[in-house]
Amino acid sequence: QSTLKSMTNDPYPDWRPGEPIPYAALCTTFAKIEMTTKRLEILAHCSLFLRQVLRLTPANLLPTILLMTNKLAADYSGVELGIGESLIMKAVSQSTGRSLAHIKADQNEVGDIGLVAAKSRSKQPTMFKPKALTVPGVHKGLMDIATTEGQGAQGRKVDGIKKLLSAADAHTAGKAVDITKDKGGPSEAKFIVRTLEGKLRLGLAERTVLVALAQAMMFHEMSAKGSKIPSTADLAKAESTLKSVYSELPSYEVIIPAMLKHGILSLPDNCRLQPGVPLKPMLAKPTKSITEVLDRFDGKDFTCEYKYDGERAQIHFVAHDSPLDLVTAPPSAGKSDKGVSNIFSRNSEDLSKKYPDILAKLPDWVKDGTKSFVLDCETVAWDMVERKVLPFQQLMTRKRKDVKVEDVKVKVCVFAFDILYLNGEALVNKPFRNRRELLHEAFVPVEGEFAFAKYSNTNELEEIQTLLEESIKASCEGLMVKMLDGPESSYEPSKRSQNWLKVKKDYLSGVGDSLDLVVLGAYYGKGKRTNWFGAFLLACYNPSTQNFETVCNIGTGFSEAILETLHTQLSTIKIDRPKPFYTHSSGNKDQPDVWFEPKYVWEVKTADLTLSPRYKAAADEVAGGGKGVSLRFPRFIRGRDDKKPEQASTSRMIAEMYQRQDSVAKILSQFRSYH
Ligand code: ATP
Repeated sequence: QSTLKSMTNDPYPDWRPGEPIPYAALCTTFAKIEMTTKRLEILAHCSLFLRQVLRLTPANLLPTILLMTNKLAADYSGVELGIGESLIMKAVSQSTGRSLAHIKADQNEVGDIGLVAAKSRSKQPTMFKPKALTVPGVHKGLMDIATTEGQGAQGRKVDGIKKLLSAADAHTAGKAVDITKDKGGPSEAKFIVRTLEGKLRLGLAERTVLVALAQAMMFHEMSAKGSKIPSTADLAKAESTLKSVYSELPSYEVIIPAMLKHGILSLPDNCRLQPGVPLKPMLAKPTKSITEVLDRFDGKDFTCEYKYDGERAQIHFVAHDSPLDLVTAPPSAGKSDKGVSNIFSRNSEDLSKKYPDILAKLPDWVKDGTKSFVLDCETVAWDMVERKVLPFQQLMTRKRKDVKVEDVKVKVCVFAFDILYLNGEALVNKPFRNRRELLHEAFVPVEGEFAFAKYSNTNELEEIQTLLEESIKASCEGLMVKMLDGPESSYEPSKRSQNWLKVKKDYLSGVGDSLDLVVLGAYYGKGKRTNWFGAFLLACYNPSTQNFETVCNIGTGFSEAILETLHTQLSTIKIDRPKPFYTHSSGNKDQPDVWFEPKYVWEVKTADLTLSPRYKAAADEVAGGGKGVSLRFPRFIRGRDDKKPEQASTSRMIAEMYQRQDSVAKILSQFRSYH
């Protein structure tokens, strides 16, 4: 609150009550946020702006929050930006009348296409002042660009971008913007371009926006009631309410109107987990040994399940005769005599077009009294002849889109391991033992189509060892170990939780887990591989700086066929120079031959981790005198199409893995005892 008090809360001059929010007002806040790295200050700027929104134009709260979180709609709607650099450069050139060669030269010098747009726009002579952009107007313009499809889509996208850029910075039109000062200031062109790229780069995490929204709403409600400012306890209550509602129902489209109508503290009565809106899945922490599992769950009851190696699937269903009154109708992906069903990925993408075979068979597994549910499952390739699970690689050969049931060659079996919602009731807060009982009561297994994850509730080391070996023989990755009772065993959406541990056979002796890394660059091959890329530069993600930090070069684990495919795939996302949000070595020898947009995530295994001056991963966290953590002998395992670059392994995870290595742990403990 003291941070809040020291900041001004004057609304933007052209912003009149009830009228659409000028986009320039939002950009002014963005520019203030960009100038600080202090979380509390970022939070305060965000919260003050949202209080103005609530006071002056609450009808624009939804597009404001969407633009602040760099989304156009809820994740499951599938609407995304992430427009490539070349298309943006074309639009900047056309809208500002500068030649593409000039724009490219600027981009080579400045390295930030947002700043290039700001500079180009400010240099442009203007005959008349364009109509100022508004927050809902920019949101709609971006939405049109993102949803443009079909023939000539690229050209129409460029037109859409041109339209926005031509109206940008109406208030400063003709006045030069100094892009070397204050990171380019509140230029609208800069922030439009960054939003188009899919990266605002303000250091504004979605969690911070959520907290700011809760605070602003609490201030607003209290002042509407004539009370003074809310207490710390009021603010904490508002924050925890909004966070928990959002984790069950991650859709601002549903939450914001309900919050404006009923008030923030009444949200849990109006917005709860519901079929049709996927929640972010709970994730597990890696462990290195079964004894570590026993230590962590010290004396508590837990259960060991097979960790199936396929694709995560959240299956939603509502029967036609269900008495449910849903806030938002589920997309009607799979319709049958019994009801409407959807399948969502780990990323909340709609997988219904990939698995029409599952949706067609699903009604057979549902018992008569089961009217609505949300299941957490793994879909696994299934050998119809041998009647057993097939390795993950088989599943990868399935088409991803527009699959027809009659064409399906790789059959899948669904292994259900949790139930999050049943017959109108959210189950996430119930103990796992209880949820599992409900799961087993509500469904009927059908061999090769639907099964419950195999498990044993043993706490005995030897029995767990045997189960782990059996799971590997059954083509699984190992075991998932889960708490059974009490509040610790509730389902924690979107959390990598201590209460779910994974034990994989092949990391019992290694560093812990495999890593998921983003491809930033490539080196041309030698010998047989001269036509393709032979090695690649990989990076992890640092959520606090929103930068990608390089972690290794990799050239092992690729078949010739994979290298050929990768060459085709990656050639489309080449860029002339590294993005400003890549943290990498500047040494001449360390530069890859080509750089890429951050798009693809690969799973990689490593023998161990070491410090290296060539890489920058977790350099701030491991205190290695500027050296980063790097992977030794990395090996490519597979592409992770179900992960976005921002979901790659984080610098923190890599630092923890490095510090946990036996050799490093020994040195650290010697160091501590010595001092
Ligand atoms: P990885 O899949 O590489 O282990 P991840 O980050 O995708 O990493 P984790 O939290 O590490 O996810 O592992 C959990 C994943 O294991 C789930 O996302 C799910 O797809 C899969 N899985 C298979 N069997 C189970 C099970 N019985 N319980 C929970 N998850 C399971």
